[in-house]
Amino acid sequence: CGIIGILGSHEVAPMLVEGLKRLEYRGYDSAGIATINDGVLDRRRAVGKLVNLSDLLVHEPLAGKSGIGHTRWATHGGPSATNAHPHQAGPVAVVHNGIIENYKELRLELAEAGLTAQTETDTETVALLTQKHLNEGMAPVEAAMATVDRLDGAFALAFLFDGEGDLMVAARKGSPLAIGHGNGEMFVGSDAIALAPMTDQITYLEEGDRAVLTRAGVEIRDEAGRLVNREKRTIKMDA
Ligand code: GLU
Repeated sequence: CGIIGILGSHEVAPMLVEGLKRLEYRGYDSAGIATINDGVLDRRRAVGKLVNLSDLLVHEPLAGKSGIGHTRWATHGGPSATNAHPHQAGPVAVVHNGIIENYKELRLELAEAGLTAQTETDTETVALLTQKHLNEGMAPVEAAMATVDRLDGAFALAFLFDGEGDLMVAARKGSPLAIGHGNGEMFVGSDAIALAPMTDQITYLEEGDRAVLTRAGVEIRDEAGRLVNREKRTIKMDA
């Protein structure tokens, strides 16, 4: 129900949890974060309030300066740690707001390729399909784009890749997503309020947009793959 992503210059775990707190007003049943530390993707997830996630993180910390976080409002698969986001399939982790309408048919196709679902969610198929594309030899950005091309439904998505500490891919269709511009840092969030402690420089993705972020900036393409210019605004917020 809420997404945050950070390519930062500080430890991101506390920043991700803080961003998720700012999205609590949307409602949620579970939460999780994934980070990349020394190139290695890892994640923590917990059912219930965000304090359960922050408790878990005290006992099983996650280091790293790149990360994604999610508060979930379950639509497919009950609230459980296994069904909580981020979903990971091999070298890719994904957070998702919305519903993937064609997940059942994608699941069948993935099972034929030997990639079986471990959760009850529609979202896991996004991670699995991206893993399939990576297995087929695609580079991370290409793999994520090929996945987004196959999705029906409503989504805001953020992807992170093992071994790619300076890369995040994001996409929006039917669910809002904001890009935040920092100084050598870049952010994504379900809304600008989630990013208020970090930046007030915001670009809103438009329907069908896909964004490739590094710490140096963002490149945005429309649904047809054309490079587009989206306005950067200064958003007034009570931080
Ligand atoms: N459909 C996804 C799920 O049930 C995402 C729900 C959400 O937007 O939080 O896991």
